[in-house]
Order: sequence, then structure tokens, then C-alpha cells
Amino acid sequence: MNRLPRHDHYIAGEWTAPADGGYFPSVNPATAKPWYEAANGTAADVDRAVAAARTAFEDPRWRDLSQTRRGRLLRALAELIGEHSEELARTESLDNGKLLREMRAQMAGLPEYFHYYAGLADKIHGEVIPGADRALLNYTLREPVGVVGAITPWNSPLLLTATKLAPALAAGNTVVVKPSEHTSASLLALAPLFERAGFPPGVVNVVTGFGAGAGGPLTEHPEVSKVTFTGSTETGRRIARTCADRLIRSTLELGGKSPNIIFPDADLGSAAMGVIAGIFAAAGQTCVAGSRVLVHREVYDEILERVTARAATIRIGDPLDETTELGPLAIADQLAKVESYVELGQAEGGKVVCGGRRPELDLDGYFYSPTVFTGTDNSMRVCQEEIFGPVATVMPFGSEEEALAIANDSAFGLAAGVWTRDLNRAHRMAARLEAGTVWVNTYRSMSPMSPRAGFKSSGMGTEHGTEVIREYTRLKSVWINTSEEPVGDPFILRS
Ligand code: NAD
Repeated sequence: MNRLPRHDHYIAGEWTAPADGGYFPSVNPATAKPWYEAANGTAADVDRAVAAARTAFEDPRWRDLSQTRRGRLLRALAELIGEHSEELARTESLDNGKLLREMRAQMAGLPEYFHYYAGLADKIHGEVIPGADRALLNYTLREPVGVVGAITPWNSPLLLTATKLAPALAAGNTVVVKPSEHTSASLLALAPLFERAGFPPGVVNVVTGFGAGAGGPLTEHPEVSKVTFTGSTETGRRIARTCADRLIRSTLELGGKSPNIIFPDADLGSAAMGVIAGIFAAAGQTCVAGSRVLVHREVYDEILERVTARAATIRIGDPLDETTELGPLAIADQLAKVESYVELGQAEGGKVVCGGRRPELDLDGYFYSPTVFTGTDNSMRVCQEEIFGPVATVMPFGSEEEALAIANDSAFGLAAGVWTRDLNRAHRMAARLEAGTVWVNTYRSMSPMSPRAGFKSSGMGTEHGTEVIREYTRLKSVWINTSEEPVGDPFILRS
């Protein structure tokens, strides 16, 4: 039998075999078959990577590089990503089962993140603080924090890595990334492009492996000055505790259970498509999935009819096929989780009006049909817990206040959708929804320029936009006495 291709860690610009020689298989979710092996990182590998990142942080080639030149390197990287986007898109699709079409679109947008932060690189600076004593010059320096540990999930591996790498590098840090154990391949394909773009070796390092074996040691490493994490709320809490103990900062982008709210004055055709896009795109495996659909009673039947009619005709199949609309779930455990939540929802009293089973296909992968529940109450577990699959609960409401109450009755606060043609209502809802992002008459819009934050259990800190630079820098206050006057004896009081 042919051995699977093997991938090592990427440390200090070199492919580096794991210290203990261990590798693990990565499975293509469309076929349920392993297609490569990745190095199974341990604390010893993390040590090497952090040491490389620390050395690179002190290296004059990086430390003394002008901020404008840092920006240039980010731009060069963006160009290289553009040249490799087809290969990166295919790799992601094979690794996590997302549609090749969608991954192509994501990869086409990826360079924008590096261009955006390239533009910001030479606009990061402190300021002069005026004081009462004109002889004292007080100014601030905005400095990089040092070695950043970045830990990412499997659902949009490179996009969610770029949102961390681009600002971290623009601010002058060095980075060790630990990708999800389910999707190491695309980051390993990206890693060598950093040196090709001109970044000194060790500025970006990749250690593959599992949460406990590699992720934990990265967050606990004494030379890591900041952790940036995207993943589940449960893991985020654990990482936040570790960082709190170490008194270092963490940025956490976590789970969601987002409401998508339809008022009777909305364009119902667009709203129904917004529901479909919100929960069935990427098979519901997005943190912002609009999993709780709230529909005004007056239009409830019509929306349900439109949504279930389209959901039932979604073409499920091979994600590499251009005509496929819904691919598999990314991992076997995720399929099992979705199946158990659908059972639970029915046991809680919900009714499956569409899907609710695995489709009949010639493929062995982890496929699940688009599923719609009615008869659920927002207090049920299927409405409160993140399923991270193609499962929507469609619930009625009677007034704006009731819609707000149901929408905000959640531990999460990541995103929300509102469908209405009433301008005043749109603004009222946007102001009162407890969510880091609110979309009106659209869903899932995203840009590197627009801040993205999770409220409540959906996270801590911000990604995207200019604010994020604060997360990757520390502020130093410098005082200089410019006076020629001698400093007097502090114990002699002058009248
Ligand atoms: P996960 O929490 O299981 O894993 C995420 C990463 O953390 C992986 O790399 C994993 O190996 C690592 N990890 C696990 N345990 C760890 C530990 N103890 N210490 C350090 N690292 C550890 O999440 P997942 O299943 O990969 O991703 C899905 C989750 O991500 C969903 O909850 C989704 O909502 C969330 N997500 C959030 C956003 C956002 O921007 N808010 C975006 C995408 C995904």
C-alpha cells in the first residue's frame, strides 16, 4: 500500500520533523478517507517553534525593519497568495469539505487582508502627551508584544489565520500558528510563501497537532506574550483561564447561535434567500450561522414554505463539483453531533419539516441534509446550543419587542440578521440587538476593514479593522526632562 504524503512542522523556515517522530492522518470528509499525514506536535516542537519566533523577534532583520518595509513584505505576500490561490482553494476543499467554489471566493479575498494591514503597518505610532510641566516631554511608543501564539479552527482555516497573521505582522510581532488538527494542509502550503515574500525565517512558524498536545503547550509557553484564538467557546474559556493565570492578553473569537429576524414588511423572497444563505451555506459550519430564524406570524407560513422548498432542492454532493451546493460536514464527530441534536430537538418537542437525515448518495463522506425544525421554543437546547451544522429552527414572533427578547435570550452574541424595509425599525433593531455584527437585508457580509467582535460568550476582543492593532501592541510611556535646570534635592521643600 502506498504511504500517504507526510507533512512536517514549519519552523525557522525549515521543514522540521516532530521531536518524537509522531504523525497523524487527516481525512477528506467527502470520501471519509485519509489523504495525508501531519506531524503530531508536542511541547518539544512548540518549544522549538517559540524559540525560533523569539530569535526572529530579536533579529535586526525583523526588529529594525522600517514599518514601511514591513508593509511591503505583506504586500509581496498578498501577491504570492494571489498566484497560488487555486492550489490553496483546492487544498482547503479537500481538507474540510467546503465547496471549491466557496473556497475559491475566499482565497480570492485573502490577499485583501494582507493588503489592508500592509497599508496600516506604517500608521502604527504613539503620541505626544501634553503635560502641565512644559520641560517634561511625555510620549508613548506603540510596540509589538513579542511572540504571538495563534490557534485556529477547521471551518475557514486560512481566512481565520490571515485575520490574525496580517495585523500581528504589521505590528512587528512574530508568530507560531497551531492550525486545527483537521485542516493543517493549506497553512503548510502557505507557510513557505512568507520567506519567498522576504520575511526573515522564524517570523512565521507552524506547529501542527492536537489541542492538548500542541495547543495547550503553546498557550502555556512562558515566551508567548499573547494568544489569539478562534474556535469553540469551551476551548476559548480554557485558553482565557491559562492566559489570565499568566497575565497575558488573549483575543477570542468563539461560537454563536445567531438570530435571523424577518419582519412582515421585508422583501420576502430576499429574506428567504438570506435564511438559506445564513444556515445552509458551508453546511451551517460558520460561526455566524443564522441558526435561529425568527419570523413574524403574519408571514411565517410563507417564509417557511419558501425556505423548505429551496432547502429540499439544494444539490448535495462532491465539493469539487462546480454544480454542488452543499458539501459534507468537515469531520465524523461533527456529523454525529448534528445527528444527535436533531434527535434531541425532536425529543424536546420540535418537528422536522425538512431534512433530518443523511442524504442517499454514492459518496461515503459525512453528508447531512438541510434540516428545518418548527415547533421549537427558544428555551430548548437546540435553540440555545451551537450545533454547527445545516439545522435551522424557525420560530414565530408577534412584535418587535418579542423578536428582540427572543433574539437576545442567548448566551451568545456573535451576529444577527434583520429583514425589513422600515428604516426606523432597522436602526432600532441594530441598536438593541446584543451582537457584535448586525446585518440588515443581507447576511454574512464581511470585510477586513470592518471590526468583528463577539459579545457575551461569543468572544473577547476584536478582529479586522484598525482597532485590532491595539490587540497586537503594547503601549509604553516615556518621560524626558528637557530642562537644563539641575534636579533638586527631593527632601528640601521649596516655599
Ligand atoms: P475547537 O475549540 O475544538 O478547536 C479550535 C482550535 O483549538 C483547534 O486548533 C484545536 O486543536 C485547538 N484546541 C483544542 N483544545 C485546546 C486546548 N486545550 N488548548 C489550546 N488549543 C486547543 O473548535 P473547532 O471545532 O475547531 O471550531 C469550531 C468552533 O469555532 C465553533 O464553535 C465556531 O463557532 C467557532 N468559530 C468562531 C469564529 C469567530 O470568528 N467567532 C469563526 C470560526 C469558527
